[in-house]
Amino acid sequence: MKVKVGLELHQQLATTYKLFCGCQISLSSAEPEYKFIRRLRPTQSELGEVDPAALFEFKKGRYIVYEVDDSSSCLVEMDEEPPHPINGEAVEVALTVALLLNASPVDEVHVMRKIVIDGSNTAGFQRTALIATGGYIDVENKRIPIQSICVEEDAARLIKQEGEAIYYRLDRLGIPLIEIATAPIIESPREALTVASSIGRILRTTGRVRRGLGSIRQDVNISTEGGGLIEVKGVQRLDLIEKVVEYEIMRQKNLLAIRDELDARGCKPTDIINEPIIDFTEIFRNTSSHIIRNAVKSGGKVLGVVLKKFGGLLARELEPGLRFGGEFATRASFWGGVGGIFHTDELPGYGITAEEVAKVKSLTGASELDAIILVADEYSKAEAALKAILERALEALKGVPDETRGPNPDGTTRYMRPRPGAARMYPETDIPPLRITEDIFLKVKHNLPEHPSIMLKNLVDVYGLNRKLAEQLMDSEYLNVFKLIMSEVKVPAKFVVATLTETLKNLEREGVDVSILTDSTLIDVFKYVDKGFMVKENVPEVLKWLCLNVNMSVKDALEALNIQLLTREELEKIVDDALVVKSDLVNRMGLKALDSIMGFLMGKLRGRVDPQLLMEIIRRRIVEKVGGGRS
Ligand SMILES: [Zn+2]
Repeated sequence: MKVKVGLELHQQLATTYKLFCGCQISLSSAEPEYKFIRRLRPTQSELGEVDPAALFEFKKGRYIVYEVDDSSSCLVEMDEEPPHPINGEAVEVALTVALLLNASPVDEVHVMRKIVIDGSNTAGFQRTALIATGGYIDVENKRIPIQSICVEEDAARLIKQEGEAIYYRLDRLGIPLIEIATAPIIESPREALTVASSIGRILRTTGRVRRGLGSIRQDVNISTEGGGLIEVKGVQRLDLIEKVVEYEIMRQKNLLAIRDELDARGCKPTDIINEPIIDFTEIFRNTSSHIIRNAVKSGGKVLGVVLKKFGGLLARELEPGLRFGGEFATRASFWGGVGGIFHTDELPGYGITAEEVAKVKSLTGASELDAIILVADEYSKAEAALKAILERALEALKGVPDETRGPNPDGTTRYMRPRPGAARMYPETDIPPLRITEDIFLKVKHNLPEHPSIMLKNLVDVYGLNRKLAEQLMDSEYLNVFKLIMSEVKVPAKFVVATLTETLKNLEREGVDVSILTDSTLIDVFKYVDKGFMVKENVPEVLKWLCLNVNMSVKDALEALNIQLLTREELEKIVDDALVVKSDLVNRMGLKALDSIMGFLMGKLRGRVDPQLLMEIIRRRIVEKVGGGRS
């Protein structure tokens, strides 16, 4: 099956200030300082440009609660003051990336507005600016065109949704993002991963990108021959890209097989369009299904439709964990706001008896080759859900509907909304264009970082890393802090890399938020090891403690965990005491007792002592006591 994949990478930049104001960048997990509420009211002309799904969301009567902290947002984020001129530092980073990707910068940077009505931007639009076009990156003997490189403002951070209220925090709004779009000519899951990681490496060589979950977000466009165009939005982990593409190809293949099956069964659009929505509530008067009973008790109905010739197909698996029936369920919940659906491929079940199913079938005259979908909810919701289901059934006859989907943690995806039309852009009249002068261009050119391939070679040559560790480091978010650490402390490079990659990854897998660790905290940890205040073995535990205890120091961690290293004086005292306790052994065996004493003390002191130092003290003390002659 022929596949075409295009990537759109979004990476937050680590600039000092935000893109259109002087606020610093810091995301807070503490309670916000204050909140304000807004109901977005897009004007008619704006709504003309908005995709139907977003409009639908807007019509649900939603309102927005914005959470504000003065340290990370000002009147600009609140849309009470016009944006300031575009941040030159962000433009410089983007120009650097543009040159590394062989792209041609524009002469003048024009800020444009892209309408968003989900409330993620207080202004009702996102500001974006084209920086360069026409680049490329060579990946495994193939040239991948880079269509555009833009700088744009990040959206406000979605916190939660409670009833009609959507909570956004303004701290993330206005953080500069670089957006890099490749041509859709990637042909396999593996190639998608390689291209994404190669672009990622280029971004990180600038040393000016933010790290942590959410700092990089990738949109993956996947189309297959004869299938549909699917955009998977917001993949946050690089290693997920391969799986996302693989599963999407699988899903499209299976949808095409279902289309062929429907075609073979002679299913026609008219079979679907003319299906009435039927009220089955009477049949379920005394049902033992909790969901249905509760829905009916609160005034709801049990409505359903027959999907002629769909029998057995809804149980088919499209990708791991997603059956064809699941596609109908997500549409029903999106457009009808219902909790779920029942379909005859999985009935009897969920408290619905065989007898009830038989009654439903006989009322509709459905045959074994047909499927029936039931929804129990308020009449209007159930009706909207079933209309969406009929629409999805119609799309099944064509194969793969174009959709925007969201990634699940395992790389499978779920329906988010229909694909929006191309967003029309309007000039941002509040911000003057920025000319890319010769001065700016030359400054960027002269400060161009090493190309990733050269940087990789240097990591091997300068720090003695093997290629695998060097690559791991290049693909991690810690290349920059690694260099800082190595410039300040004398700890083996391999240990530093293993900590920054494997140890932190393991903590992440445990569900620990390692993005809390600042560069200076990480540097401190290695300083403590370097100075002999901490043993290497304790580094993972200390890092974990620092992630769980915000704004604390390495010293605090060592105290709290009771793993401060013993001083030489304390050790000498402990060794002397031990030699007294074990004096028989020492007198009999002399230096040959060394291992035994060592084992005895390490059992008590593990984590609080450098084993080499302890060994040295024991040896010296034994020699002083009984002389070394007997060994
Ligand atoms: Zn601000």
